[in-house]
Amino acid sequence: MNWQHKTMQKAKKSDGLSPTTGDMGREEFRRFGHELIDWISDYFDHLEDLPVLAQIEPGDLKAQLPSSPPEQGEPMEQIIADVDRLIVPALTHWSHPSFFAYFATSTSAPGIFGELLSAAFDNKAMLWRTSPASTELEEVTLDWLRQMMGLDPGLSGIIYDTASVSSMHAIAAAREGVELRIREEGMSGRADLPLLRVYVSEQSHSSIEKGVITLGLGQRAVCKIPTDSDFRMDAKALERAIEEDKRDGIVPFCIVATVGTTSTSSIDPVPAIIQVCEKHTLWLHVDAAYAGSAAVVPELRYILNGCERADSLAVNPHKWLFTPFDLSVLYCRHMNLLRRAFSLVPEYLRTPEQEKVRSGSDYGIQLGRRFRALKLWMIIRYFGHEGLAARIREHCRLAKMFASWVEESPDWELLAPVPLALVCFRACPTIAGDTDETRAKRLDILNEAIMHGVNATGRALLSHTRLNDKLTLRLSIGNIRTTEKHVLQVWDLLNEQLAILR
Ligand code: PLP
Repeated sequence: MNWQHKTMQKAKKSDGLSPTTGDMGREEFRRFGHELIDWISDYFDHLEDLPVLAQIEPGDLKAQLPSSPPEQGEPMEQIIADVDRLIVPALTHWSHPSFFAYFATSTSAPGIFGELLSAAFDNKAMLWRTSPASTELEEVTLDWLRQMMGLDPGLSGIIYDTASVSSMHAIAAAREGVELRIREEGMSGRADLPLLRVYVSEQSHSSIEKGVITLGLGQRAVCKIPTDSDFRMDAKALERAIEEDKRDGIVPFCIVATVGTTSTSSIDPVPAIIQVCEKHTLWLHVDAAYAGSAAVVPELRYILNGCERADSLAVNPHKWLFTPFDLSVLYCRHMNLLRRAFSLVPEYLRTPEQEKVRSGSDYGIQLGRRFRALKLWMIIRYFGHEGLAARIREHCRLAKMFASWVEESPDWELLAPVPLALVCFRACPTIAGDTDETRAKRLDILNEAIMHGVNATGRALLSHTRLNDKLTLRLSIGNIRTTEKHVLQVWDLLNEQLAILR
């Protein structure tokens, strides 16, 4: 790449390949360590010169890679040169400031340092004694995050890799609370088990249904509740569905509300939903994977109204808290149930202190756990609560600014409210003689073409969803490098594509 760091180009030859034992030599490690940090710094400086979406065809990278591993070790210079030559062109650059697709996210410098140190320590935090630092730092850091989000002190946090896994563990704990001896006897071959039910909104993330499938409850255990015109769960329809299920002998046990749905970032009415939960003694899990981070902004804390009474809540710092992937947090009020569902301690993992300490492996399916808390601790310390809140606040301002351009233009329309930093919109130019049906089809085709047109320029990346049967463009702002300039640029790109395609 022409932006490749100078030091990399003039890198001296390696000290020589490693002997038959031991790691890379100390001097070589130092030299390449420094050079790689320079490389990363240059990568960030020159990100905007790179296409956001990888401009390659499926199979292109594989075709350039040897099909068998090297017999002898290779010099680091050569390996890093291949990162430039082969890997970078095959990347979709999530750190690019014009990445607006899916939920835009980004890493940050303190997060990268945390990952680097974590790789060096290489702890497997399964027991307290295999990583006291990871175990205790996780508890403290997650309590800091809990305070920053204004969550109830009755909630304890635990880190998993993704929200899909956090939510699955929450549902497992909820099921453990039903007292059907599922841990001991399972679900198959049991005539005594009723159908258990989990309630989600039609807009909930597919990971909830996957979690239910993984837990052996079956897809029929998922009841999808309709949403209102703003894509929020209809709490009255929820109540009706539960009552009907109970009359039919079905056992409701868990409701999953979403704060920040994937398609539109809509916020389910948790204060109304929690009342239904309490009336029927059901577990309330809140999927706040995306939007939960926004609660660190004091004036946005209202998005978690009602969650102070939730049984569990998932939030992904790797989505909107500038934390390199992966780090998802599950807050849970009933750690005893989570432990009861997952703890299994064979002789070789028994320790004298086990009754006094928390061991991560007691709370999930994984034994070994990465030292993920380190990066989040470093991020919170480096930016501080105010610094994190300021960045998220700015993303929301930029999204509202973009939404106002959409609203003011006769050629574009908003398709959902914009509570946070996600805008759902489409082009809607009128053409004389259109019928309702031809217009609907035409606009779908037009908007898909606009999205592909913008993405093909490599200067911005958007994604889509379907709302009320309309192809909907999504612009998500969540990257630490995104500024007003990038939002203006994508607006210009969208209008250029519209002018070409209309
Ligand atoms: N829940 C919601 C609301 C999401 O938007 C997403 C991903 O975008 C997920 C869950 C799944 O996240 P993860 O990739 O961490 O499993």
